[in-house]
Amino acid sequence: MKSQIKKIENYVPEEPIESVKARLGLKKLVRLSANENPFGTSPKVKEAILNWNFKEENRYPDGYASELRTKIADFIGVAPEKLVFGVGLDEIITMISRIFLEAGDEVILSKPTFSEYALHAQIEGAKVIEIPCLPETGHYDFAEFLKQITDKTKIIWVCNPNNPTGTYEDLKTLKSFFDKVPDNILILLDEAYIHYVTKVKNASFLSELANYKNVMLLRTFSKAYGLANYRVGYAVMNEELANYMQAIRLPYNLNSLAQLAAIAALEDQDFVNNSVEKTRIERDNWERFFEENQIRYYVSQANFIFFNYPAANKLADKLLERGYQIRRGLLKDWLRITIGSEKDGANLRSIILENKIQYNYETASNSDTMDKKQLLSMMR
Ligand SMILES: *Cc1c(COP(=O)(O)O)cnc(C)c1O
Repeated sequence: MKSQIKKIENYVPEEPIESVKARLGLKKLVRLSANENPFGTSPKVKEAILNWNFKEENRYPDGYASELRTKIADFIGVAPEKLVFGVGLDEIITMISRIFLEAGDEVILSKPTFSEYALHAQIEGAKVIEIPCLPETGHYDFAEFLKQITDKTKIIWVCNPNNPTGTYEDLKTLKSFFDKVPDNILILLDEAYIHYVTKVKNASFLSELANYKNVMLLRTFSKAYGLANYRVGYAVMNEELANYMQAIRLPYNLNSLAQLAAIAALEDQDFVNNSVEKTRIERDNWERFFEENQIRYYVSQANFIFFNYPAANKLADKLLERGYQIRRGLLKDWLRITIGSEKDGANLRSIILENKIQYNYETASNSDTMDKKQLLSMMR
């Protein structure tokens, strides 16, 4: 066994909803911990699946995902050869790490960010350099990224909007950073949540991609498209890199139903726009709530929001008792809530208020997790 494997902590996947309910004796559970689309999936997907030719179950799927490839390439305006598909972005992240990293290499990423980047770097024996986000705003500290580049740096991960902070870096900021990164370093730009950016019109780096040969852009159908169960993600890159990726990709990674579902979802942009609009309205409600109650949070352009709460675990337990599962454990005393329906949002906010008295910032010296000085220094 590779020695680094022994040091790796097991990734704990989301426990199935029915099993959480049974374990805690809950009648209902709303899962707002995995950033799935709480508004479901386009009904066109079910229709496409039911119309599938079930005579083909004994045949291997189209290993090149030709139809899906052509449709996405047309839709985003790139050559089809620039796309590589994965069983979710999870597989793409694995492939990239497998191809580009060896023991002793260095990977730079922000903290906190999506945990899979560091996990796969560790599996390959690479060293992970974590750059804390700017504490006031949650944005990337790109100046520090540049300082940490050495001749061992192979990969830089940029998640935009970033999970879990929700922060969005604009194109100008990204370009000015990318221009300073030596072009033998691969930059991975994960746009899993790009659909949820509403403050600018053209939020994606796609329009700039052709000018940056060392940038690879990552997209998924798991979030705004509501297809997390089907496992479809893809990367856009220059053709030379794409050839390397294709060489190690498992030949039949995407099954036919996954390909069919993604095509149907892509063709229903109304569903995506609708989900984004509902999310935007509810995201505004959350931000107003946090402002009014002086709860520290980062301004989000994603379908989740990250906020600071003393005794975060206690609050998460309280919410769970009331049927709401949210994400903890990403950063001490911070919680992440996937933005759901307005009704669930209103419910959650009133439960937080009920419990707020206990965790009043001014009187929180009895907090079990933080001393008062630390606490006050975190207030806006
Ligand atoms: C959810 C998520 C992904 C992975 O999604 P897949 O379901 O594997 O496509 C990738 N990156 C980020 C930042 C995510 O939050």
